[in-house]
Amino acid sequence: MGRMAEAIRGTGVAPGALGIFWLGGAGFVLKTAQGKVVVIDPYLSNSLDRVYGWKRLPSSPVVLQPREVEADLVLTTHAHEDHLDPDSIPGIAEASQAIFVGPTTCVETMRGWGIPTERVLEINRGEERVIAGIPVSAVVAHHVSPAGAQTPDAVGYVLDLEGTVIYHTGDSLYTADLGRVKERHPDILFVVINGQYGNMSSEEAARLTAELTPRRVIPMHWGLVAENTAEPCEFLGALGTLGSQAQPVIIAPGDLYVYTGV
Ligand SMILES: [Zn+2]
Repeated sequence: MGRMAEAIRGTGVAPGALGIFWLGGAGFVLKTAQGKVVVIDPYLSNSLDRVYGWKRLPSSPVVLQPREVEADLVLTTHAHEDHLDPDSIPGIAEASQAIFVGPTTCVETMRGWGIPTERVLEINRGEERVIAGIPVSAVVAHHVSPAGAQTPDAVGYVLDLEGTVIYHTGDSLYTADLGRVKERHPDILFVVINGQYGNMSSEEAARLTAELTPRRVIPMHWGLVAENTAEPCEFLGALGTLGSQAQPVIIAPGDLYVYTGV
């Protein structure tokens, strides 16, 4: 078992806190005080290289093997390889008992990979389901770009993890309706910053942060491949310019950040 898999298994989280591991890209492993493990958009392979010739940057290696993933839930935001990875999801399914969740296109793809129907649950924009004891809400994401495969049913997720509310934007442009998540009072915002291929820029991500007023904000979707990255310092600068009170958190791929609840 690799270092990160051991860390995820061995990490105990205090009540009211949340353990957050970054997988790189838009991928995270979240561990609760009750020991629940939720994985979002795990990209644990080199399929972007295989499909597009986009190699991982040295700073973002594969930190966890698919067959090492021990999760209750695996959430997928849309059917692009760096979020719904054909070289990660089937291995996770074979080696674990995880339940897989996503919008219609993700669900159809995962069932096509042979994951048993009863382990793949569909959730679309505006829907909320309690899965493995965790309230999961799918919210709108606008992931459209001039070129490339469109993902008309892309979602973001709002999760209530034992009292800590998180919002993972998925891949999305900035639009005013994303601000509606403010009603859910997110404690932690995971926001895309790469500013290309149908995603909001660092400045727009900072604006969304200022609107949602989370306690913490974690910029994501940077540092994975040279062809599609951003500098988080630009996001930090924009956040400062807007006077946001959200505390930004930068995690290295494979590392743990513990949100203490305050
Ligand atoms: Zn993406």
